[in-house]
Amino acid sequence: MAPRSQRQKHKKPPSVAPMVVIPPTVVTPVPLNLSKPDPSIDALGFFSLDNNVPGLSQLILQNLNMKSYEEYKLVIDGGTPVAGFGFRCPQEMFQRMEDTFRFCAHCRALPSGLSDSKVLRHCKRCRNVYYCGPECQRSDWPAHRKVCQELHLVAVDRLMEWLLVTGDFVLPSGPWPWPAEVVQDWDAWFSMRGSQLEAAMNAVLGSQAMTTLWASVRRPRPDPDVLHGSLKRLLTDALSRPLTLGLGLRALGIDVRKAGGSTLHVIGASHVETFLVRPGDYDELGYMFPGHHGLRVIMVGVDVATDFLQSTSTSPLEPGAIQLSGHRGLYHDFWEEHVETEHLTHPDLVVAFHPGFHASVSLMEAWLPTLLLLRDYDIPTLITVYSQKELTASLQILVNLDIHIIAYGVNPFTSLKPEQVYSNPNKQPAYCNAYYIMFLGNTPAS
Ligand SMILES: [Zn+2]
Ligand SMILES: [Zn+2]
Repeated sequence: MAPRSQRQKHKKPPSVAPMVVIPPTVVTPVPLNLSKPDPSIDALGFFSLDNNVPGLSQLILQNLNMKSYEEYKLVIDGGTPVAGFGFRCPQEMFQRMEDTFRFCAHCRALPSGLSDSKVLRHCKRCRNVYYCGPECQRSDWPAHRKVCQELHLVAVDRLMEWLLVTGDFVLPSGPWPWPAEVVQDWDAWFSMRGSQLEAAMNAVLGSQAMTTLWASVRRPRPDPDVLHGSLKRLLTDALSRPLTLGLGLRALGIDVRKAGGSTLHVIGASHVETFLVRPGDYDELGYMFPGHHGLRVIMVGVDVATDFLQSTSTSPLEPGAIQLSGHRGLYHDFWEEHVETEHLTHPDLVVAFHPGFHASVSLMEAWLPTLLLLRDYDIPTLITVYSQKELTASLQILVNLDIHIIAYGVNPFTSLKPEQVYSNPNKQPAYCNAYYIMFLGNTPAS
């Protein structure tokens, strides 16, 4: 089966079961020089993709004719965009998307900065980076060769993703035919979903939507096994979040048969977690815990998409029900307003996808009250990071805060879709939720 071999091509670390570890004993203190946050926290999430914190790049903004984060947010919130925004047809949308990648990967020249005789041409192998000429391409090759193959997958995935947005590719649903304990990683999950999933993917490959997609982007349609591999990566990307919540519930031994239901908070949630989320997207989490007595997933963050803002119902859940809701704001404010006042119950699990507090002083300043709150209230918490390096940096910060680390490691439900760093295309692509850290309360006194 092609997709498996493709997955192995891009050097994923092997899946491992959650492991209990002893936190690093020698910890270099991380200077926490907390100063005034310079751009706003909202804007930080937005511009920091280059630091491996979710967000959109400045380049995308420019090419969508949006000049600022505020303008982008207006569009996300359903406001009237500025003149010049928008696309009249799919061709134009894909063209605009492609334009965001159109700059010389070596000398950074933009199309507007080239002399008349020069045009930007893409690398023929990956079709995902551009060069102003053969000299730049030659000089760039030693760096680009390390990521060219992986960037080829990125180029296919970002077009195929459109099928998820339009609803032409829907996530599999229905109770798990296997006992949940057996499904410890993606290999098991794909085997379990088996022939039903294969049939669904083959139907997408043969659909009119697929034909239209490749006609619109004006590039040759890749081979079926390449497209099949892309659909599988997109599935892991969409399901990584619900299944990582499940990993946390499972590994931290949280009882999901509590009368009235269990509560999960997804904190620091942004448009990444909440834009275009459909009610069924978290069904897979429910199937992971057959017999659960209701799961309430509350997304809290400064960037929660407007469509997603709903007040959380306080009535007890029906067994088997999943309820999604969103609140805009910082978590410690949400806590004061809703949890402290006993309007909402204490969460059974808190999850933050890529909080990125290791990435900058300003982000750390925004996260500090929340981290201390989670520690002092003994809330079981799981966070994810993109890389080993970030794992180490984040662990150090948590240990410095006397937070008791329960486990960390490679996430068996990581997204397998590579993420390119737009402004620096030769940087090693990252994978969402690649590693996790679980913590609970204070470090025990020794
Ligand atoms: Zn160049
Ligand atoms: Zn290439």
